[in-house]
Amino acid sequence: MCTEMLGVSENRRLVGIGYFKNPLFSERDGRVENDAYMQPYSGLRDVAARIDRRSYSVKPIYVGAATETDYLLISMISFYDFYNLRDEVPANRSCQVIVGGPACHNIRSVIDHIDVAVFGRCDGNAINRILSGERMPNVWRKSDDPMFEGRYTVGAADLNSDQRGLFGPVHTEKSVGCPVKCSFCFYSHWNHFVSNSTESRYSSGTAPYEDYFTQLDWSRCARGGVTALDGVNEQTRGRVNKRISYKQIVDKLLSINDSDYHGLHRAKVYIMYGYPWESPGLALDLVDACREADSRIDRKLLFKLQCSHFIPFPKTPMELAAFNPNNFRDNAREWAFEGNNIRVAPGFTNQSPRLSALSAFLNRYDGKHPDWGALFFTRRFWKSPWKTVEETYRSWGLFDPIDRHPLDNVSAGSAGVDRHQLNETQDLLTGKGDPK
Ligand code: SF4
Repeated sequence: MCTEMLGVSENRRLVGIGYFKNPLFSERDGRVENDAYMQPYSGLRDVAARIDRRSYSVKPIYVGAATETDYLLISMISFYDFYNLRDEVPANRSCQVIVGGPACHNIRSVIDHIDVAVFGRCDGNAINRILSGERMPNVWRKSDDPMFEGRYTVGAADLNSDQRGLFGPVHTEKSVGCPVKCSFCFYSHWNHFVSNSTESRYSSGTAPYEDYFTQLDWSRCARGGVTALDGVNEQTRGRVNKRISYKQIVDKLLSINDSDYHGLHRAKVYIMYGYPWESPGLALDLVDACREADSRIDRKLLFKLQCSHFIPFPKTPMELAAFNPNNFRDNAREWAFEGNNIRVAPGFTNQSPRLSALSAFLNRYDGKHPDWGALFFTRRFWKSPWKTVEETYRSWGLFDPIDRHPLDNVSAGSAGVDRHQLNETQDLLTGKGDPK
C-alpha cells in the first residue's frame, strides 16, 4: 500500500525531538550523558506522540546535530537548559527551534537561539497547530515579535486529552498546579490548578498536597517518601504562606506509630533557606521536633534534607524580592541529628548561592548586560571564587529588590498572583507587615 493511500504525505517534514549532551555540567558533575538523557522528559515524549505522522516524521536527535531537521523541539526543564541552549544549538541551523517546558518563561537570555516559545502547557492538538504556524495567545514567535515585547498567556492543562508515549508509557497526570500557593512557588502560580483525581487520600507525586509535610504518607516511606517544609521555622513558613506549625510537625512525627510498616522509614525533606530576611546561623525546627519525638516513637525514621537557596521566581508574590547572597550550606551541615529512632542527615547536594544567583539572574534578565553570557558561560565562571562573581551580580543590582518584573508581559491569568497575597508579601519583604 502506498503512503498516499494511508494519508501520509510524501513530503513529510522532519521534527527532531532534541536532547542536550550538556558537556559543561556533565563534566562538572562527573556524570556521563548519552542518548538516554531525554528519557525523563515525559512531557516532551507526550507532545512528540501527538505530532501528526501524516504530515511529519519524528525522531530523537542531539540538538548539536540538528542541521537537517525542519523543526527542533526542545524541552526546557531547568535553568541549566538556558546554558545548554546557548551552548549546543548550532549557530548555522536552518531548522526552526521550538522550546517549551517548565523552565520556558523568561526567554530573553536565549532569544538569539530560539524561534518559537510555548508558555505553559502544550496539550491535545496544540503541537500540530504550532507546527503549522498558527498564532496562539501562549506562543511567542520571533518572526512576529523579535524583541519579546508582545503580551502572552500561559497555556492551561487539559488532563482529559489522550496521553500516549512515543518511547514508552506516559504516566497519566492526576493534577497540575497546586492550590496551596506558597509565596515562592513558581509551579503553583504559573500553572492553573487542574485535577481529575477521584482519590480523596494523599497520593505522592500525582495529587494536590503531594509535598506538604502534614500530608506525608508514612506507608510510602517504606520505599522512600518525598515531602517539604520550605522554611526553617514557623515564622518563615508563615511569611511564605506555608503555614505548618512546630506542633503539627511533632504530631506528624508521632503519627508514625500508626504506620503498618515496621522497617526503616525514609523520606527526603525539602528545606528552603536564603530568604531575604535570613542570615547564616539558622536553626531548623524539624531537628528540635525530631529530638522531642525520638523517645516517643517506636519506628525507625531517616530524614534526608534537600536544601535549596531561595530564588525569586516570576509570577510569584516574591518575584520582586532581593536575592540573598549569603552561603547557608555550611549552616545546613550542622542540622545533623542522631537519636535512638530518628536520624536527620543533611544532604550533600545543598544548593550554593552561585547556582541560585544565576537562576535568579536568568529569571529576571531584562535584556541589559548583553555580555553576561560571554562572562558567565565559561569554565572561568565555575572556577572563579564566589566573591568575584558576587561583585558582578551586586553591580548589576541582582541583590536589590526590583520595582517591576521584566516578565510582566506574560499573564498567568487565573493561575497568577493573588493581589492581596502579593501586597501582603511585599509588605513583609519591606518590613511593613507582621508575619502571621
Ligand atoms: S511549594 Fe508545594 S505546597 Fe506550596 S504551592 Fe508549591 S507545590 Fe503547593
